[in-house]
Amino acid sequence: VERAADNDGVAVFDEQLARQLRARAALTCDLLHAVERDEIEVRYQQVVVPRTRTRVSAEALARWRHRDTVMPPSLWIPIAERSGIIHDVGRHVLGVALRDQPRLQVPVAVNVSPLELTDPRFVPDVLAALGDLPPRRLTLEITESAVMADLDRCVAVLEELRARGIRIALDDFGSSYSSLGVLVDLPVDVLKLDRSFVSRIDQARGAAVVEATVALGRALGKPIVAEGVETEAQLARLVALGVDRVQGFLVGRPTTADRFNGERACPRPRAADTG
Ligand code: C2E
Ligand code: MG
Ligand code: MG
Ligand code: MG
Repeated sequence: VERAADNDGVAVFDEQLARQLRARAALTCDLLHAVERDEIEVRYQQVVVPRTRTRVSAEALARWRHRDTVMPPSLWIPIAERSGIIHDVGRHVLGVALRDQPRLQVPVAVNVSPLELTDPRFVPDVLAALGDLPPRRLTLEITESAVMADLDRCVAVLEELRARGIRIALDDFGSSYSSLGVLVDLPVDVLKLDRSFVSRIDQARGAAVVEATVALGRALGKPIVAEGVETEAQLARLVALGVDRVQGFLVGRPTTADRFNGERACPRPRAADTG
């Protein structure tokens, strides 16, 4: 590891880059075993009706308990996608979410990677995971950019899922500059207004963009969930614009299934099931 230049004298070895690559390789190795070691946990964040704060659904959010830290998905979902582990992770999160759904007492939404959605086994896997649970209790969230990247294929899969009674949410709505002409025909049930819009609502120029995006969503005739609502001021503005549902730290942080209903943690019935 002393090589500093190739035969042409061009530097090909960079210590810092090498360190980063080693760190990523180590992380990838650990991630390969994360599911089997039961390190992937699921938190639930509620979505509420703004005026009444009635809970309408729960979004499942994956966490990786890795060497005494809890890693947010932004740090490892991309690695899971590159290495193909995302299929195992996705199946695991879906299974946990569907198992937890009855005690959450509201429908559960699960995020789906574009790689999973376009996998031929995805639909049968989801149906198998549902088992006897009514399909209406499940929403699958797929990002707007993913749908636009492979429109025809995604539309076909989304239509199949909807025909089975599973709801579809368009995540990060507004972040992809998709045209109204394309959006209007998308087989989705709910639009999730991206957090970046909500955070801009406090500024005059930002507010106009949020207004236009919410108006676009309303023109499509779909319920809109605003993500990442952190302040009462943001909530009030969103309600005034006609947003139907809100999600964010103001109304509830991601939490464990046990805490979701305000229960005290207690021995889980599933401990006996799984042996
Ligand atoms: P997302 O689906 O848009 O999920 C919402 C994210 O916003 C979550 O981040 C949530 O914790 C965060 N959030 C909610 N309310 C607030 C708020 O008021 N303020 C701020 N600053 N943040 C808020 P999280 O859990 O870190 O997840 C990030 C992204 O990772 C998700 O974005 C989703 O795209 C992806 N993700 C999470 N779990 C999974 C999974 O099981 N599978 C896949 N494929 N992706 C996942
Ligand atoms: Mg989501
Ligand atoms: Mg989202
Ligand atoms: Mg988002």
